[in-house]
Amino acid sequence: MNTKPFITATLIGSMFASSVALAAGGPGYGKQDLILAEATETSSTDTDVEDESSLTEIETDDLKYMREEEKLARDVYLTMDQYWGQQTQVFARIALSEEDHTSTVDYLLEKFDVEDPVINDTIGVFTNEELQALYNELVAKGKTSFINALYVGALIEEKDMRDILAAINQTDERPIILAYSNLLDGSKSHLQAFVSVIEAQGLTYEAQILDPEEVELILEDESSLDDDDDED
Ligand code: ZN
Ligand code: ZN
Repeated sequence: MNTKPFITATLIGSMFASSVALAAGGPGYGKQDLILAEATETSSTDTDVEDESSLTEIETDDLKYMREEEKLARDVYLTMDQYWGQQTQVFARIALSEEDHTSTVDYLLEKFDVEDPVINDTIGVFTNEELQALYNELVAKGKTSFINALYVGALIEEKDMRDILAAINQTDERPIILAYSNLLDGSKSHLQAFVSVIEAQGLTYEAQILDPEEVELILEDESSLDDDDDED
């Protein structure tokens, strides 16, 4: 199965969609854009009740998965910061952004009346068994060296982008697409941040999940560098 041209097209499409959203709504992250989208979508009705339970099973499953996948990013980075916080601020800084991301998905779960898989917000606790196993594996790897920890960060961002892109292609709900596009932009800038710390160690980053050409495209994209104020 060759999905490369499709993924690349979606990557570019998402950059376009989010710049349109920015142009229309000014600066801002998930929630502002969501509110904007909601206002557009429900302008002729008093409530958004009719949106509820209108999701397909795939849309519902994707939302639940993304809620915990963003939590996984946050939890791994918080844990890595405990080990490597002396060497870099990158984990602490990006963990804050992942907290926003998981909250954005939580907002969507509420909006569409979907059960939140995060029953326990403790670091390192997941409902999804696959994500639980992944968390354990990545933390175990990241503990072993600073470079491994940075590679774990970059891996999470690449996986996140792959999964978000897949989820965007499975939904036609505008608020969800806008939110996912914001998560995607965040992941791009996070990958850039991890790679720049890796390269500062004299190494060359190699793609771990996405196509190397796609990773190159993301790393060359300077549109998401503005909010990357690494002061190390
Ligand atoms: Zn994220
Ligand atoms: Zn991220």
